[in-house]
Amino acid sequence: MKLATIGVGNAGSKLIDRMLEFEQETGRDLCRHVLVINTARTDLAKPDHVPEDRRVLIGDTHQKAKGHGVGGDGEVGAEVAKNDIDEIRRVFDDVEIHEVDAILVAAGLGGGTGSGAGPVVIDELQKMYDEPVYGLGVLPGEYEGGRPALNAARSLQSFVTKVDNFIAFDNDAWRSRGQTVEEGYEEMNRELATRIVTLLAAGEVDDSDVGENAMDSSDIMRTLDTGGVSSIGYASTDLDKPEGLLSKYKKKEDDEINSMDAAKIKGLVRRAVNSRLTIPCEVSSADRALIIFAGPSSMISRKGIESAREWLEQEADTVEVLAGDDPREDSDTLAAVVLLSNVTETPRIKEIQNQAVDAQNKIKELDAVREEEIASLITDDDNELDPIV
Ligand code: GDP
Repeated sequence: MKLATIGVGNAGSKLIDRMLEFEQETGRDLCRHVLVINTARTDLAKPDHVPEDRRVLIGDTHQKAKGHGVGGDGEVGAEVAKNDIDEIRRVFDDVEIHEVDAILVAAGLGGGTGSGAGPVVIDELQKMYDEPVYGLGVLPGEYEGGRPALNAARSLQSFVTKVDNFIAFDNDAWRSRGQTVEEGYEEMNRELATRIVTLLAAGEVDDSDVGENAMDSSDIMRTLDTGGVSSIGYASTDLDKPEGLLSKYKKKEDDEINSMDAAKIKGLVRRAVNSRLTIPCEVSSADRALIIFAGPSSMISRKGIESAREWLEQEADTVEVLAGDDPREDSDTLAAVVLLSNVTETPRIKEIQNQAVDAQNKIKELDAVREEEIASLITDDDNELDPIV
C-alpha cells in the first residue's frame, strides 16, 4: 500500500517517526507523504526522520496554547485545530493524493492535542479526499489516571465514527515492569511500528510480477472496510538460526519443504494471534481477518498459507479470512502479521469508559465542592457583608 501518514500530537508524531525508521531499516517504501501536527513547539522538534518542512505548529497564536501545548485538554486541542483549519488545509494541499491508496492518522488519545485535534484533522481529510482515512490510536494505561481515560473514551467515539477503520494500541497491555515510562514508550512504539508497517507495506509495489500468493493493497483495504476497531497480531522467526526454517529448507527436497513449512507457517500464525495483540480482544469477535507473511518467497509455501488461513478461519469464526505473502527476498526473518478487523469484544475499551465516567463524576463533584468552599471562604459568618460591585 502507498500511504500518506499524519501524526497528530506527541505520541502520534513519535509513532510516525518510528514507522519511517522501520521502513528505512527494512528497505520498505510505505509512507509516501509525511506530516506531523502539534500544538507544542518542543514536541515538534523530537522526530528524527520527519523533514523539517513537514512539521506543522498549530495554535501558536491561540490564547490557551501559544506554542506550549494544550495542557492535556482535548476540548482545547479541538478548538485550536478548528481555528487553524485553513493552515491545516493548506498543508494538505501539498499531498499528491493520487499517489497514495490511503491516509493514516496516528494519535495518542489520552492527551489534549491528539485526542482533540486528531478528529478535526480527520474530518477535513474526509471532506477533501475520497481515499480511505485510517486511524492509529494509542489508548492510555489505567495507571495514567482518570483525566487521560476521559480524553480517550470521548476521543475514541470521535475517531471511530469518523475514520474508515481504527487500529488500536493499548498501553496497558504493553507496559513492562522495570522500565521508565520513556523506555517503555520507546519499545512500544517500535513494536507497533513493526506491526503496522509490515501489514500496510504489503502490496506496496504495483508490479503484478510478484507471484501468485502476493497480497495486494486492495485485499488489505477490503479487510479494513468493515469500519470499527481493529487489532494486530505479529510473530516472526529468524531464518539464520540453526533450528530455523532456512536450515531445513537447505536440507530438504522441494516437496518436503512445502509439507515441513506448512506446519511451521501455521505455527507462526498461531503464535501471532495468541501472543500480545495491539489491543487484547476476543479473536472470534472479528468481522474479517487477514494474514500477511513477509519474508523470502521461497520460504512461504502455498500449502502453508492455506493451512494458516484455514486455522484462522476457525479461530476467528468468520469465512472472511484472506492470506498472502509480501515477498522480501533480502529479509533474514519470516514474519506473520494478522489483522483482526472490527473486533467487538475488547474488555480494555469498556474499562476505559468506566474509568472515564468515574473521572467525569469526580470532576463535577470537585467543581461543585470547590465553588461551595470558595463561597464559604469569602462569606462572613452571618452573611452581613456585600460585595463592592
Ligand atoms: P498530546 O501531544 O497532547 O496529544 O499528548 P501525548 O501524545 O504526549 O500523550 C497522549 C497519550 O499518549 C498519553 O496519555 C499516553 O497514553 C500516550 N503516549 C504518549 N507518548 C507515547 C509514546 O511515545 N508511546 C505510546 N505508546 N504512548 C504514548
